[in-house]
Amino acid sequence: MFLGADGLRSCARGALLPPLFCTKEEILGGWVTKEMIVERRKRCVAILNDDLSEIDCKQCLRAERKRYGDIDFSRLGHLDLQHYTICNLRCSYCSYARNKSQFLPQYDALKVLRLFSPEDIEWNAHVDFAGGEPTLLENLEEYLEFFRSRRIRVLMHTNGVRFHKAIYDGLADGSLYWVTVSVDAGTPSTYRHLRGGDHYLQVLENLSRYAVAGSKGKGMLSVKYIFCESNCGEDDIAGFAYAMLALRPQKVWLTFDFTPLYLRQNDYDFSPQIDAYAQLYLLLKKHGIEPFHYFKEAVASVSQHGKEIMNRVLAAIGQRSAATMLDDSDLVYRDFRKSEPSISSEPLVFFTDPLRIIHDGTEERLSLVEKRVLLVPACPLTQALLAIPELKDAAWVGFLDRNPVQQGKSIEGRTIYSYERIRELRPDYIFIAAPEKHRKDIVETVFLNWDGKIPVAELAASASPETS
Ligand code: SF4
Repeated sequence: MFLGADGLRSCARGALLPPLFCTKEEILGGWVTKEMIVERRKRCVAILNDDLSEIDCKQCLRAERKRYGDIDFSRLGHLDLQHYTICNLRCSYCSYARNKSQFLPQYDALKVLRLFSPEDIEWNAHVDFAGGEPTLLENLEEYLEFFRSRRIRVLMHTNGVRFHKAIYDGLADGSLYWVTVSVDAGTPSTYRHLRGGDHYLQVLENLSRYAVAGSKGKGMLSVKYIFCESNCGEDDIAGFAYAMLALRPQKVWLTFDFTPLYLRQNDYDFSPQIDAYAQLYLLLKKHGIEPFHYFKEAVASVSQHGKEIMNRVLAAIGQRSAATMLDDSDLVYRDFRKSEPSISSEPLVFFTDPLRIIHDGTEERLSLVEKRVLLVPACPLTQALLAIPELKDAAWVGFLDRNPVQQGKSIEGRTIYSYERIRELRPDYIFIAAPEKHRKDIVETVFLNWDGKIPVAELAASASPETS
């Protein structure tokens, strides 16, 4: 559910906008009930299935086929919080800033969310806490407390201009599982021009503090670079790359300003941004930071045009990488935020249907009768593995997840534990099926807590089960 400034929608992904199913006026009038939301959600699905209506959802690459009876309209899974748009910046790529529509909260979003009981929350519920700028909300702590009490994971988008202790604490204790800050510049002058405020050095200082909180192993800080027309120069690429090496956030995410897609400018030329993207990607990689292609999730997964841009980016990286020294250990800067040395072990590979594992180059059938199995992490990918017949024969199955918000919950009756409990749980097998974004960290953390003997295997890419 997307809580926007004009009311409620089913989601807001990439450049697509689903229909408004509940207006701001209805919320302010106090007429909205849980039953009403459920009915309106059903109506949205009916529109998606008719042959008449023109809605963005019909082009969405994420649209899935499900049996009607399998959809529970009364539950909350993915939330988007954007019912306010006030901000202390004026970014050139921001539609709120461009349209001069920066507003205080338009209604009490917590009142809407409280219509749903704790039992209505999915085990993997999470909220994209965006806006607007969250640190300008007077009751930011109240929101965070609500999500903590409902055990909803929080991904917070802040511009980092204002340091907020609640964000630092949330990162340190994991109640904020991601905090993401767009920097988009490698020089103060580009930042000022692009973001409409003279705060570059202040933001870098705040990032340094948040990176310390993220290094405690619970929440994580990611720093984003959104490529636009005005930030593709070499000064910015070099300035940003070396700032990241100095600050060492837990992740760097790269993406684009997709405004031309929103505006349906299909002939817009993204070439300069794609070229700059490839340069920055390889410069960071050469020195030991592997950035994440954020747009893969944000736009490429929902729009055909986004997918085409992604393919061009990967091709540009491929072309440039031939001329970039990527394997020279003298050029890799150690991640000083990580106290423990990273383990370079690689997991074995397993396949499903039937369950097989590759051992010393040989494929072996696997029986899990009377075996204890841990699945890592707790996510829809590993949940789908529960349907494998061999896992049904296992003596015991549990999940591992680094996020304290998830630990102690259960998925189909199987408990989620922390990585630190691997030895005490005495598994016979550890199976990993990780989303690409988290794969490296997950593998590393499993091996850091490993006893050196338990077979650890990762799901072969070709064997990924459906995760509807
Ligand atoms: S920081 Fe975010 S909300 Fe604020 S102007 Fe920039 S894009 Fe818009």
